[in-house]
Amino acid sequence: MDNLVVPCPQCLGKNRVSAARIAHNPSCGRCKSALFPAHPAPLSDANFQSYVESSDLPVVVDFWAAWCGPCRSMAPQFEAASKAAAGRVLFAKLDTDAAPQTAGRYAIRSTPTLIAFRGGREVARQSGAMTQRQILDWLSRLGAGVHAA
Ligand SMILES: [Zn+2]
Repeated sequence: MDNLVVPCPQCLGKNRVSAARIAHNPSCGRCKSALFPAHPAPLSDANFQSYVESSDLPVVVDFWAAWCGPCRSMAPQFEAASKAAAGRVLFAKLDTDAAPQTAGRYAIRSTPTLIAFRGGREVARQSGAMTQRQILDWLSRLGAGVHAA
């Protein structure tokens, strides 16, 4: 596959990105936002489904809550993992209080919970705070193109 579809976290534009360009911080053809932003893309009930379904790359989502201590301590680890895996895996976040519909659909009972999606379908989930290394190892173990490290 030469071109991958990578959704824009801002405008949901579907960008066709070549393998050569994917390593060079590509931006959205429509709104110029970074497709692999420095901070994991915040998703909402309105854009969640479309974002995870339209990506050819695996998407890992941190289901978090503002009042959750372990979520706050994992946030910089998740962000560091997103930089290490840029171009291979899309990283996004969902505030479970601000997006109760999506949190309900995936039956999120504790935070933080990480869910990995491929083609819009859940392929794995992991609850509890993880370090950058643990996140990358977990993604690598999922195999099938989820080579994060
Ligand atoms: Zn865009």
